[in-house]
Amino acid sequence: MTRTDLTDAELERYARHVILDEVGEDGQLKLLQSKVLVVGAGGLGSPVLLYLAAAGVGTLGIVDHDVVDTTNLQRQVIHSTDDVGDAKVASAAERIEALNPDITVHEHRQRLNAANAMGLIDGYDLVVDGSDNFAARYLLNDACYFAKKTLVSAALVRFEGQVSVYKTQDGGPCYRCLFPQAPDPDLVPRCDTVGILGSIAGVVGCIQATEVLKEILGIGTGLVGQLLLFDALDMNTRKIKTKRDPNCALCGDNPTITALG
Ligand SMILES: [Zn+2]
Repeated sequence: MTRTDLTDAELERYARHVILDEVGEDGQLKLLQSKVLVVGAGGLGSPVLLYLAAAGVGTLGIVDHDVVDTTNLQRQVIHSTDDVGDAKVASAAERIEALNPDITVHEHRQRLNAANAMGLIDGYDLVVDGSDNFAARYLLNDACYFAKKTLVSAALVRFEGQVSVYKTQDGGPCYRCLFPQAPDPDLVPRCDTVGILGSIAGVVGCIQATEVLKEILGIGTGLVGQLLLFDALDMNTRKIKTKRDPNCALCGDNPTITALG
């Protein structure tokens, strides 16, 4: 049944949303009825999940196979010291429940792979990539392309981050249009080898959460066809225009990738 009114408790909890002309009661209802899948409950996933839960995004799915490690706590703010050794999906779900008990959380304690990706994203309106590796990023891109779902993607390293929204169902580019080739894994800087300033995950994750909320609400100009680059050392942000590549192996005119694998 589609709801048409907020309850008194919801009107109070979300009062600062409802008062915004761009959100209002209708927008808050949209948030409450939306379903978002977040892949990775780590540096990016932490702020994304916390802000989406606080905002009242009604159903949140979390995909992560890992357990909380002490070295995660420097930036993965959804987890606490007491959670070390626990499954990240369980730790995140517990924190979300404490923050906003109205949210339904689905814990998917598994590693994203070609066999489970389509099943995992099925049933969600929108997907957030908070993964930490290229294999997952390409796989999620391809799955969202085949499922015609919007993907809000970001990546982090050291003092830098990037964010974009891939909406191929509306003619926008996919991740492969921008990055056709996965780099050699040995040459890619990773947080666990080169480090990351913890707050960078917060900044970039909050931009990602904001793009998700804008997408659901249908307000503003999203990062479709734009790649936002953030450099904390100089506190610079810039946006690069992107477009669909007709030669893209996935979404191009003569695709060579026709299934996940
Ligand atoms: Zn493409």
